[in-house]
Amino acid sequence: MARGSKNNDNDPRHAPDSVLVHSGRNPQDHHGFVNTPVYRGSTVLIDSARELEAGDSRYTYGRIATPSSDALADAVAELEGGAKGFVTPSGLSAITSSMLSLAAGGDHVLITDSIYKPTRHFADSLLSKLGVEVEYYDPLLGDGIERLMRDNTRIVFTESPGSQTFEMQDIPAISEVAHRFGAYVLMDNSWATPLYFNPFQHGVDISIQAATKYIVGHADAMLGTITCNERSRDHIEKGLYALGVCGGSEEIYLGLRGLRTLGVRTRQHWSSGLEIANWLLERPEVARILHPAHESHPGHDIWKRDFTGATGLFSVILKPVAKERVHAMLDGYRNFGMGWSWGGYESLVIPFDPSSYRTATEWQAEGPALRFHIGLEDVEDIKQDLDDGFARLRGAAQA
Ligand SMILES: *Cc1c(COP(=O)(O)O)cnc(C)c1O
Repeated sequence: MARGSKNNDNDPRHAPDSVLVHSGRNPQDHHGFVNTPVYRGSTVLIDSARELEAGDSRYTYGRIATPSSDALADAVAELEGGAKGFVTPSGLSAITSSMLSLAAGGDHVLITDSIYKPTRHFADSLLSKLGVEVEYYDPLLGDGIERLMRDNTRIVFTESPGSQTFEMQDIPAISEVAHRFGAYVLMDNSWATPLYFNPFQHGVDISIQAATKYIVGHADAMLGTITCNERSRDHIEKGLYALGVCGGSEEIYLGLRGLRTLGVRTRQHWSSGLEIANWLLERPEVARILHPAHESHPGHDIWKRDFTGATGLFSVILKPVAKERVHAMLDGYRNFGMGWSWGGYESLVIPFDPSSYRTATEWQAEGPALRFHIGLEDVEDIKQDLDDGFARLRGAAQA
C-alpha cells in the first residue's frame, strides 16, 4: 500500500473509524496542514533527462495520478482491503471502465438481474455492440450460477443488495464458482460503503463504489472508485490508461472530505433508517419493507453473515392503491425530496417499477414500490412527515 496508508498489526489506527480519519493523508508532506491540498494539474515537471528516459518518476502526468487522486484511491483501497485503488469521474464510469478493461468481443458476461439500471443500459448497448455476450442471472441463485458458467465467461457482475429491490447475493458462493471457471467477480459495493462489507474477504476481485453516494455524502459531486486485488490490478490500470479515465481534483477533494465523516454519518443513516423501516412495517398501508438489516428480509441471514452494518437506503411495498393517491402522498412531503441518487445528508423518496426491464426474474409486488433514503433529519420529524403522507394516501382531507 502506498505511503500514508499502512495497514498492519503495529499500526494503532487499525479500526475503520481511525482509518477513515488518517488514511490517504500525510501532513508532513504539506507543511503540517491537515488535509492533502488539491493538486490541479496536467504537466508534471521531471527533474532530469535520465529520469525522463527511465520513466520512473512518482508522478508523470495529471491524468495518470496526482497526490489528490492517490489520497482517495489509497484510502478506499485500505478500507476495502484491496491491493490497489483508482478514482473515476462517476460511479457509472467506474463500472463501465472496469468491464471494458476486462471483456473483449467473444466473451460472455453474467450480470445480476437486480443490477443498477444504467449498468444494464451500458451492457445492453455499448458492451453488446463490442461483441460481448451479456446474460442476466437471478440474484438469488448462489452457487447455482455454475449452470450458467461457460469457458468464455469473463465477468460475473454482482451488486448486493440490489439498490432498488435489495436482494442479498451469496457473494462467497458465487465467487467460488466464478473463480473455478477463471472469471473475474466484480461487485457494486455502493450500498454498504467501504465500511460495512469487505469485498476481498468474500471473493470479489474488483469492488466498485459510486462515491457520489455515501463517500461524497453531501450531494455535491460525482465520483467513483475501483479497488482491485492483485489478480485484477494490472488489467484495470492498463484499461484506465487506454480509456483516459481520471477523476477531477476538486471532486476528489470533496470525496476525501466526505470520507472523514463516513463512519458517523452512516451510523446515523443506519439507525434512523432501521427505526423508520420498523415504523413503516407497523403501518396498515404497507405490505412489506425491503431492508436487509431487518429480520423480515429474506436475505437477512446473508446480511448477518457477511455485512457489518447497514446504511439508510431501503424500499417499501405498499398495499394496492391508486396511483393518484401515491402521487398525492409523494407531492406533499416536507422532508423527503424526490430525485435520483442517495447517500447525501437529506431524505429522498422515489417510486420504482423494475417489471418492464427485468429479464431473468419476474418482479412481484403487492402494490406500488417506493425507495426511501433516510437522511440526517430528526427521526420524529421524518415519522410525522410520513404519517401526514399516509393521510394523503388514504384520501383524507389535508390538515
Ligand atoms: C448511483 C449509482 C451508481 C452510479 O454512480 P454515479 O456516480 O451516479 O455514476 C452505481 N451503482 C449504484 C448502485 C448507484 O446507486
